[in-house]
Amino acid sequence: MRRIAHIDLDAFFVSVERALNPELSGKPVVVGGHLDARGVVSCASYEARAYGLRAGMPLTTAHRICPQAVFLRGSFDRYRDASVEFFGILADFVPDVEPLGLDEAYIDLTGFESLYGPARETASKIKSRIKDEIGITASAGIASSKVVAKVASSLSKPDGIIEVAPGAEREFLAPLPLTKLPCVGDKTERVLTAVGINTIGQLAEAPPSFLRQSFGAMAELLHRYANGIDERKVQGPSSPKSISRETTFARDTLDRRFLQATLRRLSEEVGAELRANGKRARCITLKLRYADFKSITRSQTLNEASEVDQAIFEVGRELMEKALSQRHKLVRLIGIRVSSLSQGKQLNMLDAKTERLECLNRAIDRIRSKYGFAAIESGQTLPLREGIDQQKC
Ligand SMILES: [Mg+2]
Repeated sequence: MRRIAHIDLDAFFVSVERALNPELSGKPVVVGGHLDARGVVSCASYEARAYGLRAGMPLTTAHRICPQAVFLRGSFDRYRDASVEFFGILADFVPDVEPLGLDEAYIDLTGFESLYGPARETASKIKSRIKDEIGITASAGIASSKVVAKVASSLSKPDGIIEVAPGAEREFLAPLPLTKLPCVGDKTERVLTAVGINTIGQLAEAPPSFLRQSFGAMAELLHRYANGIDERKVQGPSSPKSISRETTFARDTLDRRFLQATLRRLSEEVGAELRANGKRARCITLKLRYADFKSITRSQTLNEASEVDQAIFEVGRELMEKALSQRHKLVRLIGIRVSSLSQGKQLNMLDAKTERLECLNRAIDRIRSKYGFAAIESGQTLPLREGIDQQKC
């Protein structure tokens, strides 16, 4: 029987702030951007959640509901450092760690009992190390599958552990509200409650024909998850299918210099992650979301797989120019994704220019890993400094 744990840091951004400034303890705290921009809550402390504050809520609304909360702008560098420490701790225990973001991961503990004792003890040791070394609490769910482990960790928050015994998965899920199931969003919930399905147990018993009619391809997944069935394996981060970065502007823009600078920065981040994973990409996709929320994506395939920031950026820029010439409207979000990833070096010789760029990029990676991403800026990203102050959480 598999033993999979889902480990999730509690109120991550707020916890990191509190570890640095204990005076924030016990107070409603919100991490987000500036109140006057159109930022949203990135993370709310449990005290703030008690007032109804939630991640994703506009900061102005949060401030109206809970003006006494401490509003922090947040520091992405600190959260990234804490995240690196977190994944370092997990990697000390098991080889298979699957990140689900900066602050949560699945780990496969199957077969590790002889080394560390029962899964619950291992989760407890991991939690202690997180507390000792990063100064924050984590919650853990343990079960025979990913989906049940994730539900268990969310129920154990904050600072808890819930283990679901093999065979008890269905019974564990049955009384819970639908939205506890990771694949049920607001829309799915509305459709289900309209026909009197309010719990995961009721969903587990819903007729397959009804689910197929209402949810099409999603029906089987809903049925399986509601029944605690999930055979997905824990997959290490070594094999990403794609790497992407996107950013929403504080103000919609059509400023070419600013758009290009942002795209350049995102390309550098994507390139750095490609190289960190020892990968090259053949497909590059640009994403634009306009002020009216219409989104478009445009892709291009390279002749040779590349790991070079400049190549990613150049293709992204061309795709952007083409897209903007077809639809010249204010842009709200820009993103870049690379996919069709392959491993390591190419077989044929690189031309001299590409080789130089590869060496340069790797040197920059080394400096950035030591001193932070902002330690080196390329000329093309300089307009970002003059531009709107971006918030990325
Ligand atoms: Mg978390």
